[in-house]
Amino acid sequence: MSPPVIAPGATLGVLGGGQLGAMFAVAARRMGYDVAVWDPDAEAPAHQFAGYSLITPFSDVAGRKDFAQRVRAVTYEWENVPGELCEQLEREMPVRPSSRVLRVIQDRIEQKTFLRAHGLAVPGFYGISRPEELGRQTLLGYPLICKTATAGYDGKGQWTIGRAEDRAAVQQDLTKAFRPGSRWILEEYLSFERELSILVARGADGTTRTYPVVENIHQDGILRQTTVPADVPAAVAEQVAAMAREAVQALDGVGVFCIELFLMGDGRLLVNEVAPRPHNSGHYSLDACTVSQFEQQVRTLCGLPLGEVRLLSPAVMLNLIGDEVSQVTTTPGMQQLLSEPGAALHLYGKRAIRPKRKMGHITFLASTCAEALATARAFRSHQVLPNP
Ligand code: ADP
Ligand code: MG
Repeated sequence: MSPPVIAPGATLGVLGGGQLGAMFAVAARRMGYDVAVWDPDAEAPAHQFAGYSLITPFSDVAGRKDFAQRVRAVTYEWENVPGELCEQLEREMPVRPSSRVLRVIQDRIEQKTFLRAHGLAVPGFYGISRPEELGRQTLLGYPLICKTATAGYDGKGQWTIGRAEDRAAVQQDLTKAFRPGSRWILEEYLSFERELSILVARGADGTTRTYPVVENIHQDGILRQTTVPADVPAAVAEQVAAMAREAVQALDGVGVFCIELFLMGDGRLLVNEVAPRPHNSGHYSLDACTVSQFEQQVRTLCGLPLGEVRLLSPAVMLNLIGDEVSQVTTTPGMQQLLSEPGAALHLYGKRAIRPKRKMGHITFLASTCAEALATARAFRSHQVLPNP
């Protein structure tokens, strides 16, 4: 039996109002839906596109009732929304991806344990719940990376431990951050050859659509640049797509997912993490694909057929982080960027500029990746943005 379809005119709910929520709202509105955004930050970008905005804390009982009455289905723009809120909403309407999927993904230890149990290769890891356990003998050796099990993003809540002597300083940080229930994951720190990622959209009927494999460059744990398609052999791209589909199928996930992987020098592919939502490395799909990741999110949420995915052009996406946005938005900066053939500027409308805050992105379309990379590189040098 096909799942019920939510027809245009209905109101869709999104938890979280950052740029991902905003881009979801734009896609939903374009398809004739209204959108209710719940984010306690009144200045969160998605509120600008909301027919109804809720700015109370997620724990607000009256708010929960109000939100549930207004919306026909709910999705979220990042994984750090309360799982129990999704569970409560799910009793009344579809929440996609489900609260069960969210619970597995929200906790890095659970997520990696789940992936490994389903036969997907992941970096060596173990979980700890007390800072002192950092001193435990480890079979993983060094270097290590320590991450908060929950609520980390953009490299926040992460420490690298180069050698045994570095443990004391990190242990101090963990002790300071310790709260009842705190847990951390320790992973082997990999000298990977490349970081790759891929989007998978999966409908309630189990249909999946995979996007092309992309290559990502991160700095300080935050995404700087994405190139699509990734310059990898076809066999690697096929394996990435197969692993990504397997992960989403194992989760029985409905929605849009992004799978981040490490490609090792010896050809091994290890899953770094799975995001249960559209992803920064998939922003190219807004300008370079037949159907964007946000439109697929709307389609999966509403039980509509998933869009055929076709890459219309190679592309390079650059994030504008912190102050970089002010260089681009000067008159000469805008002159230069907007005169560039194939350049698409996206600004998130965030008022406060903070270091490491994602303020916008630019997608450079060109007939080859090499050309798009050269344009991006020239643009960065001109703007004195760091080149990765
Ligand atoms: P986040 O939720 O912040 O995206 P990630 O686990 O993806 O957390 O880590 C952010 C970045 O840090 C990764 O994209 C990668 O560049 C680096 N990183 C994470 N884990 C490892 C690892 N085990 N080995 C080497 N680099 C890593
Ligand atoms: Mg990541």
